[in-house]
Amino acid sequence: RAKEAGKNTFVVYDPVAKTDVTRQRAAIAELESAVRDDELVLHYQPKIELETGRVVGVEALVRWQHTERGLLAPGVFLPLAEGSPLEFELGEWVVRTALRQLAAWRANGLDLTVAVNISPRHIARPEFADFLTTELGRHPDGLAASLELEILEASAEGRLDTVAALMRRIERLGVRFSLDDFGTGYSSLTYFNQLPISTLKIDQGFVRDLFASPNSLDIVEGVIDLAKAIRRPVVAEGVETFEVGLMLRRLGCQYAQGFGIARPMPADEIAPWVTAFASAPDWHDLSRNDLV
Ligand code: C2E
Ligand code: MG
Ligand code: MG
Ligand code: MG
Repeated sequence: RAKEAGKNTFVVYDPVAKTDVTRQRAAIAELESAVRDDELVLHYQPKIELETGRVVGVEALVRWQHTERGLLAPGVFLPLAEGSPLEFELGEWVVRTALRQLAAWRANGLDLTVAVNISPRHIARPEFADFLTTELGRHPDGLAASLELEILEASAEGRLDTVAALMRRIERLGVRFSLDDFGTGYSSLTYFNQLPISTLKIDQGFVRDLFASPNSLDIVEGVIDLAKAIRRPVVAEGVETFEVGLMLRRLGCQYAQGFGIARPMPADEIAPWVTAFASAPDWHDLSRNDLV
């Protein structure tokens, strides 16, 4: 309708559009109370070292435990918060919750790193570095070294200097950064000179297709070689089968995450999973399985 009305005309009396806006507003308000009432929950997906099969850490992934609609994926509700203060409130909730969980695992003798996804707008705010300083101050010294922040290539777009300075401030706290979904955004290789990025995560799109598409295999190989050249470890995400894990190890990829290893799970399932996985033969014996 808006199109038919012409380029510069706003459609004012459109019952459908009005309903959409109303519905959108209601959804945002609902998410707002969900953040405040702790209706959000973090699930954690294990990350392993391919050479040894050792569980090195987990990635925190947010879900919304909705009272009527069930467990909602971040792709469904994160866009509602984008561009409003709710985005930062939600992001802070995630960091706070993940740190508390990390401290609890640590207290129980479980030595894991926890990776947290930070939105491009959030990492670019000076307030975020302040927030993180305060939050880490609530925990024992040394916890920062087990925290990893995953940022996207879009984070530094048009503001490389500012973001670089903020990231360096955070790095001085002991926190490390990884570049998520590498290969899907518009990043320049100067990022690696300007930003304190210690790890590269290959996007799951390339990894999942590893055997289906020769292009994907070449890209994954190229990214692993690039990472080696700039001395950054690589994490492959989207490892859905053992065979893909095997191939990645052969190509020199150090770490892997994916449904073939474990799906994201509630925090209390992590410790039992780590114990059970320690005796999973396949993933601990990749070199023996490597027949080529
Ligand atoms: P991401 O950070 O790249 O996380 C990986 C996503 O891939 C997760 O989806 C995970 O469940 C899924 N995944 C992992 N292994 C496999 C696999 O083998 N196969 C397939 N098909 N998928 C796999 P999820 O949890 O739906 O999250 C989607 C995206 O939402 C994340 O992508 C991240 O960009 C964003 N996100 C999630 N949690 C947060 C958060 O707390 N804060 C922010 N800012 N973004 C978040
Ligand atoms: Mg991530
Ligand atoms: Mg990713
Ligand atoms: Mg992603």
